[in-house]
Amino acid sequence: MSSYNFNLEQSAPLDGLPRPKAQRRLTGFLPSEIKSIESSIPLKSRETWKKFAVQKFDSKDSFENSFVRHVETTLARSLYNCDELAAYQATSETIRDNLITDWNKTQQKQTAKDQKRVYYFSLEFLMGRALDNALINTKTRDLVRDSVDDLGFNLEDLIQKEPDAALGNGGLGRLAACFVDSLSSGEYPAWGYGIRYQYGIFAQKIIDGYQVETPDYWLKFNNPWEIARNEIQIPIDFYGYVEHTKNDNGVKKSNWIGGERVIATAFDFPVPGYDTKNVNNLRLWSAQPTTEFDFAKFNSGDYQNSVQDQQRAETITAVLYPNDNFDSGKELRLKQQYFWVAASLHDIIRRFKKSKRPWSEFTDQVAIQLNDTHPTIAIVELQRILVDLEGLPWDQAWSIVTNTFGYTNHTVLPEALEKWPVELFQRLLPRHLEIIYDINLFFLQTVEKQFPKDRELLSRVSVIEESQPRQIRMAYLAIIGSHKVNGVAELHSELIKTTIFKDFVKIYGVSKFTNVTNGITPRRWLKQANPELAELIESKLGSDAYLKDLTLLKKLEEYADDSDFVKKWAQVKTNNKARLIGLIKRLTNIEIPNPEALFDIQVKRIHEYKRQQLNIFGVIHRYLQIKKASPEERKSFAPKVSIFGGKSAPGYYAAKLIIKLINSVAETINNDPDVGDLLKVVFIPDYNVSKAEIIAPASDLSEHISTAGTEASGTSNMKFVLNGGLIIGTVDGANVEITREIGEENIFLFGNLSENVEEIRYSHRYNGYQLPESLEEVISAIEANKFGDGNEFRQLVESIKYHGDHYLVGDDFESYLKAQELVDESFKDTKEWVKKSILSVANSGFFSSDRAINEYAEGIWNVESINT
Ligand SMILES: *Cc1c(COP(=O)(O)O)cnc(C)c1O
Repeated sequence: MSSYNFNLEQSAPLDGLPRPKAQRRLTGFLPSEIKSIESSIPLKSRETWKKFAVQKFDSKDSFENSFVRHVETTLARSLYNCDELAAYQATSETIRDNLITDWNKTQQKQTAKDQKRVYYFSLEFLMGRALDNALINTKTRDLVRDSVDDLGFNLEDLIQKEPDAALGNGGLGRLAACFVDSLSSGEYPAWGYGIRYQYGIFAQKIIDGYQVETPDYWLKFNNPWEIARNEIQIPIDFYGYVEHTKNDNGVKKSNWIGGERVIATAFDFPVPGYDTKNVNNLRLWSAQPTTEFDFAKFNSGDYQNSVQDQQRAETITAVLYPNDNFDSGKELRLKQQYFWVAASLHDIIRRFKKSKRPWSEFTDQVAIQLNDTHPTIAIVELQRILVDLEGLPWDQAWSIVTNTFGYTNHTVLPEALEKWPVELFQRLLPRHLEIIYDINLFFLQTVEKQFPKDRELLSRVSVIEESQPRQIRMAYLAIIGSHKVNGVAELHSELIKTTIFKDFVKIYGVSKFTNVTNGITPRRWLKQANPELAELIESKLGSDAYLKDLTLLKKLEEYADDSDFVKKWAQVKTNNKARLIGLIKRLTNIEIPNPEALFDIQVKRIHEYKRQQLNIFGVIHRYLQIKKASPEERKSFAPKVSIFGGKSAPGYYAAKLIIKLINSVAETINNDPDVGDLLKVVFIPDYNVSKAEIIAPASDLSEHISTAGTEASGTSNMKFVLNGGLIIGTVDGANVEITREIGEENIFLFGNLSENVEEIRYSHRYNGYQLPESLEEVISAIEANKFGDGNEFRQLVESIKYHGDHYLVGDDFESYLKAQELVDESFKDTKEWVKKSILSVANSGFFSSDRAINEYAEGIWNVESINT
């Protein structure tokens, strides 16, 4: 007992004992229940509770009081051994107390309002640090800074003590993190559902120029930002067999008997909205052994193995798969997916059932968004629950399912499209496979009716790919089981309709397919990452209202020629570059002598399609030009710093070679006295969210140079623009809309267009191709061992020179160099450059994730903010 102030939920009393009527349960209550529970509590108890209702800190005194109490009791330390880590933890515990108080009220309010809720299913949440973000969103930062100062600490130092919550690979996971921030800030009744990996994305070390992966055990110290819900224990089954029976009326029934059971236990992460008391929930699942024991093994004396089997349960949520835009196809990955989805659905259905509504009202209460195909099995699981467990007729169940789900596609890259061998499903989820077959059968029957005798079409759109081995196409299942399918930028949403999902447009009509362009939260990516710029902006806009309505930035246009403002704007950029210089020195020991140099940055996952190789070849080209120039001519080169960062998937050989090449090129150039300060090359190790917060505000130029048609949206392009950096980029993903918003005179576009890419690739294959002279020269320098052993990079070079140049590095190289020349030219005119920078920020309001969430809410979920 004693925890009924929490609005949390549980299916049955753990002790299994019968409870008296109106027992105060752990579970979330209905509005009507609250009254009856209240009247069952003696007045005296109620008064005592009210008298000691938890108070949030709201002054320096009350903060400091709570801080000291947490140091001395929660942490069992004292004034004499409170180091910075302890101070970080006590600060966080104090903030957490406030968040939980508001979290409770939010959950009660949402329960009372009883509106439709949205559940965001994402296998990744790349949250980064929580403390600074919580201080900003709750507007307690100044108070807490002064308080910890009184207590003998520096807030900035404490913030650095927090490990990143790096439960994601890159853009997809960071999008989910921005979305939960916007859902909470917009006061939507919404929960995120994901996995609490014990190991996040690996930490990257660079040793002798090579990427080395080390485990990210981010839970080493107590995590103040999570609430362990050990009382929430949901059994999840795998393997086993299906029993087919008939009921008394002769209706067929299927019953899955699982063969292995693990327990899903919940960890809740409060997500504070900005400038609101709304605190939403992010629920992450962790796998635990069951307490049911294998007595057969135990009795046969095999105690050791019996325990070991149990321990294996925990491996399900042990580690995040480190592939970005790549399908690994491993059994454990499928187990993760089912584990998480089944636990989340169980939770959602339990919540729904408490309302005693008929199933026909499920879709008035519940919307579920599938972040990519990773949670697609939820479609099948919900159908199974409704048909097998709840006894609904197939068609009624299917109508509920399809009206519940929306599916977000994130890629057109074939290597990233998820597929699972039929054989694996047969073993791991035998009943789900049967249901998939039925879903597919009924789908193909309707297609057949619509397009009689088009056997080709049937085989193209079948969920089952008739390959060796046969595979289940998860994206097709996701389309068939959802009422809306969206891409993440206009170009991308158009592309999926004309390429990978073309047949489905023919079948369903175009209205099932829509676009929601990605966005980023301005709280983290402007206010938190760039406090100086935020302050300068606030000085002109008169308030921080732009943080809730980012289109208000438009007013900055008025100051684009104001010389005082321009000067201050440039000074903020310089300060942010100095901050990055400090980070680079600390991490790489490389000295950047000149903060006035052009900072040209490309940070993102390392991938051939993102074309870091194009960038580094451009750097080599520049180096060769400097080397050829006379000392007199060299004076005309504008100093530049080329900065790279990003992780490669551990098994992605070509990407790892690119990292090595960047580091080898850096080694040569940074130590060449002919070059001096004209060019520096840096690879920042272990790119993550907290580093991105220092890097994004420090760019003059950032590179978003994917082969046209390959980057679905990109979100770091938005981060850089919002922080006053200009972009060099291809006509790809959200670059297109960024150009439309900020004007094409404020961006450096280059390269072939997506509509021509297939044709060019085809021509490479069948007509051959010639690399431009400039690129041949770069490759010759590599082969001549100018950057270490050239032989080492042979595969990288050959894929471009001889194996089709799939990513069109050769085709775009000259155009890229020209765009870089334009950049150099523009940068010389500081006033014009700063003007471009101001105008870019002024017109980047569209790229707020608040706008994206409002579009999902209105166009896909039909969910309203709780104050409307
Ligand atoms: C924003 C972000 C990304 C996504 O970057 P793209 O350039 O859009 O691929 C990846 N990793 C981190 C740490 C980020 O913050």
